[in-house]
Amino acid sequence: MVINNWLSAFFVKEFQTEPRCFRSPGRINLIGEHTDYNEGFVLPAGIDKFCSIAIAPSGSDFTTLIATDLDEHCITNHFPEEKHSNAWSNYVFGVVAAFKKRGKNIPHFNAVVKSDVPVGAGLSSSAALESVFAYAFNEIFQCGFDRLELTRIAKEAENEFIGLQCGIMDMFASIHAKLDHVIRLDCRSLDFEYVPMKLGGNKIVLFDTCVKHELASSEYNTRRLECISVVDKLNERGENFPSLRNVSMEMLESNRNLFSDNEFKRARYVIQENIRLSNFCDAVEREDWSKAGSLLLEAHNGLQNDYEVSCTELDFLVENVKELNGVWGARMMGGGFGGCTLNLVAEEKVNEVVQTISDAYKNQFGIDLKYYIAGTSDGAAEF
Ligand code: ADP
Ligand code: MG
Repeated sequence: MVINNWLSAFFVKEFQTEPRCFRSPGRINLIGEHTDYNEGFVLPAGIDKFCSIAIAPSGSDFTTLIATDLDEHCITNHFPEEKHSNAWSNYVFGVVAAFKKRGKNIPHFNAVVKSDVPVGAGLSSSAALESVFAYAFNEIFQCGFDRLELTRIAKEAENEFIGLQCGIMDMFASIHAKLDHVIRLDCRSLDFEYVPMKLGGNKIVLFDTCVKHELASSEYNTRRLECISVVDKLNERGENFPSLRNVSMEMLESNRNLFSDNEFKRARYVIQENIRLSNFCDAVEREDWSKAGSLLLEAHNGLQNDYEVSCTELDFLVENVKELNGVWGARMMGGGFGGCTLNLVAEEKVNEVVQTISDAYKNQFGIDLKYYIAGTSDGAAEF
């Protein structure tokens, strides 16, 4: 049964009223890693895996939330003002709180949640969950917010209610995504542009290392500081740059003596990554998969050697997959030190590639590789 029929039927059985159904996708980021906090560009797309909900006002003094994937429910007669013990419902109540902050009191409601966005795989299941509720509340209770404000609401739920200082990309992508397109998002102005990306006979395949090394958050902070330090040093020389976004390769190289080796490498990566992202947009628009793939490999090389946020497992996957028939290119995706690699693969070769790389990974690390096959999708919508 199609998912909205299944959700509706579940809802009707539970609450004896007809719901409306909404969904919002998980996301990938094609290229543009660690560029967001340097006020550069990112290139996310919605994927064809969604967090879907059936929802209706309850007409009573109670709200009931059902997470079908977890077989859990949560009933309350007041919306909590801050994070409480039921972990997953906090994402929903965080959205309620963000509406309230904007003067919109959400009345009690019933909702059933079902998602096929894998949790913790780097595809942003949490952003999909926040985004679908933000979108649904706005429609059902006619709050009149535009998609950008809904993005801010979903981000606020994660930052302030959940307490996780993520950037805006995940929610932006989940809410704004467009089938057969990537979003070229300027993290400085939040201006964006849809760039056509018809995958045609190709698929995005994600290989999940199933590891998360401890280093991730401390190294993330170090990288941010190194980037700031490069900008500070240029500003001491009379520039007035707010971020690495303003720094060109020529400028970096002509001031080479100002920087430590690490600072130089970090900045070089960020500057080149923004250029690569532009070239990647041109390549996918032309459907030049060979070029797009080689830019992914270059990006990985930069993340591995200049930005130094990769790890043995990620490098192994990229290294071993890139020679296989049907693979255009691959790179680590996300903050680093674990998570997924993103691979651009000819559809007819996907099964073969998955088999080969799973065997190799198991052999090397003793870990069963997880994988996800994705196409692009539209953003938050009623369905
Ligand atoms: P991700 O990288 O996938 O976003 P997070 O740790 O940020 O991982 O968010 C995962 C959390 O989001 C889960 O632990 C759960 O609380 C919530 N969540 C995700 N998917 C679902 C779902 N299908 N049903 C209920 N809660 C979900
Ligand atoms: Mg998340």
